[in-house]
Amino acid sequence: MSEFNLIETYFSWSDTASSVIKGVGDDAAIIDIPNDKYLVTSVDTSIAGVHFPIETPAIDIGHKSLAVNLSDLAAMGATVKWFTLALTLPSFDKPEDTQWLEDFSRGLKTLANQAACDLIGGDTTQGALSITIQVMGVVDKGTALLRSGAKVGDLIYVTGTLGDAAIGLATIIGDLKIKHLSDLDYCQDRLNKPTARIVESKIIKQFASSCIDISDGLLQDLGHVLKASQVGASLNTREIPLSPALSRINRTIAMQAALSGGDDYELLFTIPQSCNVDFLETVNVNVTCIGKINQNISIIMDENGDPLKASGYNHFNG
Ligand code: ADP
Ligand code: MG
Repeated sequence: MSEFNLIETYFSWSDTASSVIKGVGDDAAIIDIPNDKYLVTSVDTSIAGVHFPIETPAIDIGHKSLAVNLSDLAAMGATVKWFTLALTLPSFDKPEDTQWLEDFSRGLKTLANQAACDLIGGDTTQGALSITIQVMGVVDKGTALLRSGAKVGDLIYVTGTLGDAAIGLATIIGDLKIKHLSDLDYCQDRLNKPTARIVESKIIKQFASSCIDISDGLLQDLGHVLKASQVGASLNTREIPLSPALSRINRTIAMQAALSGGDDYELLFTIPQSCNVDFLETVNVNVTCIGKINQNISIIMDENGDPLKASGYNHFNG
């Protein structure tokens, strides 16, 4: 298969949005950006054996490579619109490459369609498997969610449940055994098929003072918010949301995964107390209040006043 055939067959599906003046197929893409919006953009590379285990199914690699990028835009409160794909493949011409590309592009395309995010271009090269996606979106001027907006007294919330992906990874690399098969599947799915919290972001955006997506573990990513906002945090660790699967494993291991494990792709955000009632009346997605912002710059404490520090759990993060 030639490079041109490959692009044509697997990566030329888009061009549907009216904002795409020129998509895949010319020397560069052209997009139309409304006057009243800012362009919001982020790029992430996923390398086999570093960001995902080598044996990850191609369909999941396709999904996850885009999902992690969508998550960054959700954290900014932006609406996703377009993405480019720089794909490096070990080979193009073996029979198994065709299957891999078919599966990879299906995983990618399914999520892209769901998220209404158009593939507008990319690059295809030969080398060790690596996927770089640059995602672009828009936000009404002055409405983006930043890490720097948290204020003393704000309540700290997270979406979903934490630690599932880290436990999924631990089972894949042989660090941990899980009894129930359905719990094992659930955790591995959370690792391989993360959900970018796009829907949640739209609601959170109306009330939040700051936001970040949790990709490197709750404590580490909360630390980024604290540093950017020049504040501290006290967490009620008993409130940290665990899935039914994690509530069935050893509590210490589950909590370590929830506090320090990577790859959750949940949103962490702060809500001023003055609009907390309105927020709770409006929010129709799964969110949990886990603590409060205080004045102890960059320090995270638990409910007993003891400091909480991230412990290594990120074998496959970077
Ligand atoms: P050039 O040599 O001019 O950079 P390429 O052959 O790299 O052209 O790309 C031709 C067209 O195909 C461009 O529009 C480019 O954006 C697109 N393209 C290349 N690789 C991919 C890919 N993996 N996914 C989507 N579009 C791609
Ligand atoms: Mg090129």
